[in-house]
Amino acid sequence: MSFDYDLFVIGGGSGGVRAARVAAQEGVKVALAEEDRYGGTCVIRGCVPKKLMVFASEYSGMVEDAQAYGWDIKAGDFSWDAFKGKLHAELDRLEGIYRNILKNNGVESFDQRAKLADAHTVELADGTRKTAKHILIATGGWPTVPEFPGSELAITSNEIFHLDELPESILIVGGGYIASEFAGIMNGLGVKTTQFYRGPQILRGFDEEARGVVAEGMAEAGVNLQVNTNVTEMRQEGGKIRVIDTHGNEHLFDKVMYATGRAPNADSLGLEELGVERGRNGAIVVDAYSQTGVPSVFAVGDVTDRVNLTPVAIREGMAFVETVFKGNPTSPDHDLIPTAIFTQPEMGTVGLSEEEAAAQEPIEVYSTSFKPMQQSFAGRAQKVLMKLVVSKATRKVLGCHIVAPGAGEMIQLAGIAVKMGATKEDFDRTVAVHPTMSEELVTLKTPVRFT
Ligand code: NDP
Repeated sequence: MSFDYDLFVIGGGSGGVRAARVAAQEGVKVALAEEDRYGGTCVIRGCVPKKLMVFASEYSGMVEDAQAYGWDIKAGDFSWDAFKGKLHAELDRLEGIYRNILKNNGVESFDQRAKLADAHTVELADGTRKTAKHILIATGGWPTVPEFPGSELAITSNEIFHLDELPESILIVGGGYIASEFAGIMNGLGVKTTQFYRGPQILRGFDEEARGVVAEGMAEAGVNLQVNTNVTEMRQEGGKIRVIDTHGNEHLFDKVMYATGRAPNADSLGLEELGVERGRNGAIVVDAYSQTGVPSVFAVGDVTDRVNLTPVAIREGMAFVETVFKGNPTSPDHDLIPTAIFTQPEMGTVGLSEEEAAAQEPIEVYSTSFKPMQQSFAGRAQKVLMKLVVSKATRKVLGCHIVAPGAGEMIQLAGIAVKMGATKEDFDRTVAVHPTMSEELVTLKTPVRFT
């Protein structure tokens, strides 16, 4: 049977574009459909604009630090309009790059929604049907807001990059990556920021000590962090939103942003009709090779709800091409993924938390928390944390957790050592780079705890 294409990719985000490109480079005939903007969540409404907003928000503190170092400078006002204009110009530029990647590699793209008509047929929004030997779904995820009275007044991370003006006050609900990162961003940009989290400590699932240092640092920087608190009701009141919390307290905010999780973007794709199974949270169920129960249909990235990170979606897309088009069955490696949370203070982490490791085997914990030289000189109270969780039996470093300026950059490198199976003694025999914060990782002498 002959098909229009060897591969039809639905979704032009990180995973989809990478798979389309590397497949096309193998001489495979590829098409891709994207209903929104090319680049997907990461480029258009996630990692990239978020990180640029983190950078923008960090300058407020830098002026004070520079003054403490003897510079005679004063902070002017932050112009949201000026920043937003540049931000969106940059996103347009990046979207252009993504489009060109496809074009230059001979991938035919369709700027419209696509769904599955059968195991080898994709139907575009204009009714056109295209056949393909393989179909890859890479449609990502979408923010979810729980339903309660007034929930329609909330914005999500999708809208935050498009605000007409910066609010004077904002409530951010949630305690995950997105809520905690935006609490820092808004606070740094001078917005009066409150964060509600329903549990006792933000960033559930991460190392407990590290989350504590992040939460403390955020509160010190000015975020009004209220744990064990949730919203029961919201009402529009003039230009403001009245929020009633679970303790019965009432507050007024200019904006309320919900960051209470994301759901796989897998509705109305024709999956049910085709018998493609959907699991927890509506995710497309795939095997270790990203293949669904329908052999010609594969899925990668957030729509599969495995590890929802851009570099993981990219790896999954490349492993798919390796498996299907290069005759080299490859399953993406989801073990020991280093990651950064761009909170202020920033956190970098790889491997097991102290709690996870202790539940698994006897461990030694090496940890130090101190005021770093640069900030301490400037009179800042913020502390950093350097922590290793070590297996007593194998001496391997099971987890490394860093809370510090630049922690994301540091954990990328420490992640190589941990991925290679470095022991505590390997860390110890590495000479310190002095004076740095990360040198503490190779000079941790005595365990602070063991189990
Ligand atoms: P998360 O799943 O990380 O966090 C959701 C948060 O919302 C949790 O604190 C959760 O609480 C809370 N929550 C869930 N439901 C409710 C509810 N009904 N009412 C109140 N609170 C609720 O999702 P995010 O949206 O923050 O991020 C999505 C994913 O995106 C992440 O898992 C991550 O993989 C990725 N991401 C990665 C980034 C990075 O690498 N730096 C940055 C941003 C996103 P509880 O803990 O109690 O369940």
